[in-house]
Amino acid sequence: MVSQSIIEIKKLFYRYEKDTVLENINLTVPNGSFLAIVGPNGSGKSTLLKLILGLLKPQKGEIRLFEQDINKFSDWQQIGYVSQKANSFNTGFPATVFEVVSSGLTKKIGLFHFFKKVHNQKVHDALESVGMGKYSNRNIGELSGGQQQRVFIARALVSEPKLLILDEPTVGVDVENVNAFYHMLADLNQKRGITLLLVTHDIGTISDKVTHVACLNKRLHFHGDTSEFEKHQIEGMSELYGTDVHLLAHHHDHGGAFE
Ligand code: ADP
Repeated sequence: MVSQSIIEIKKLFYRYEKDTVLENINLTVPNGSFLAIVGPNGSGKSTLLKLILGLLKPQKGEIRLFEQDINKFSDWQQIGYVSQKANSFNTGFPATVFEVVSSGLTKKIGLFHFFKKVHNQKVHDALESVGMGKYSNRNIGELSGGQQQRVFIARALVSEPKLLILDEPTVGVDVENVNAFYHMLADLNQKRGITLLLVTHDIGTISDKVTHVACLNKRLHFHGDTSEFEKHQIEGMSELYGTDVHLLAHHHDHGGAFE
């Protein structure tokens, strides 16, 4: 059965010792969506990811994964995760791209022991899906930050998860490659049907690639689809700058006069 909501969070609170860092979070991630969680440093983004990954337990509230209470959930293979630490990978590490991606299959290696061909094909497919098919034999240390990040995403994808979670994935990516990087993520979402959740500062670049946006700063200040988000931003700006912003948005909607 296909789950309709991949993540469902209700009335979630979290505090480290005394300080509450997440307050009354309600968030749904529908199957097939691409959600960006944006917020300043210290706003609770990493804490929220750790709760979703089961690494922390909330003091209050509920988290459901694939329509199951997180405390009963065991099918962690459905969830791929690329941490921020992937960016600070030791580039002197002597491993090929193929080996790095293969390491994502270690849990299944018993199964594939006699099926080397299947194993190789899975690694190849994962690399193709992030545009790195030609780099299989290269040493990971020879690649640029953006290429390495793609390889780490391939490693998370090789066990074919339905949900991929990325923590600040563009930190090591050159500015001129960020757009292509987000484009690759949008392809994973649209062509392969993988539900994506990413944490970022980059709302400007990403807002036309994602389907949903959540703005976090201890509480969720906004959560909705991208068209609602644009409307929300325009309303926020017009409170600051007056009604001209509405006019500008109007022109933009009807013929791209400012493009
Ligand atoms: P973000 O990922 O948005 O930068 P974090 O979730 O890392 O935010 O942090 C949210 C708040 O929780 C910050 O004020 C941070 O200092 C605090 N915090 C994070 N981790 C810990 C911890 N292990 N112990 C105590 N406080 C923490």
